[in-house]
Amino acid sequence: MDAAHQRNVVFEENKLARNLAPKCKQCRREGEKLFLKGEKCFTDKCAIERRNYPPGQHGQKKGRLSDYGNQLREKQKVKRIYGVLEKQFRNIYYTSDKQRGITGDNLLQRLESRLDNVTYHMGFGSSRSEARQIVRHNCILVNGRRVNIPSYLVKAGDIVEVDTNAKNHLRIRASVEAANNRNFPSWIEVNVKEMKGTYKAKPDRTELPATINESLIIELYSK
Ligand code: SF4
Repeated sequence: MDAAHQRNVVFEENKLARNLAPKCKQCRREGEKLFLKGEKCFTDKCAIERRNYPPGQHGQKKGRLSDYGNQLREKQKVKRIYGVLEKQFRNIYYTSDKQRGITGDNLLQRLESRLDNVTYHMGFGSSRSEARQIVRHNCILVNGRRVNIPSYLVKAGDIVEVDTNAKNHLRIRASVEAANNRNFPSWIEVNVKEMKGTYKAKPDRTELPATINESLIIELYSK
């Protein structure tokens, strides 16, 4: 981990780490929209719409990346999209590799099944980081039981809902309505009025972003 990255990883009192690097800069570094900032990402204020080149003094210089560079960038991109740090990501990769089936599919499905990600897709948070905060603040129930662990893996058929007290939070309400206007992913069903959703099944690879090239990550970790 380089010094800049180290500075941006803050260990909170409860020993949980998170990436505090400026979100739009993370997108510019990867050269694509990672949707890290909620509603702003859908407006023309998005930094990628305005300055689609890497941040920093040499950002506009063109250069070709090596194979290793491409693999590394792809891993960084996926970590940033799902808000997962290196150690946790590596563990998810190794578990996915041991699982039956295609490692790349398993990896993405595990990331998609995380409670913070499901909460985000159901629209209860406008970004994954906001969804994670909502989970950490005890606002989410899974099958009627409070779960405040963002990495909790949701299973097919599980019901995820906003706690009664949190249902009146204007931010959550606005976020769910905006998500409803954009349509929910096919593997999720949401009752917007009740702020309750069902995780119907693990998503198929075809239903996940085509911009992710998980084979590069597998090549990187297989070395
Ligand atoms: Fe990325 Fe959203 Fe910032 Fe655009 S607005 S650069 S998608 S975080």
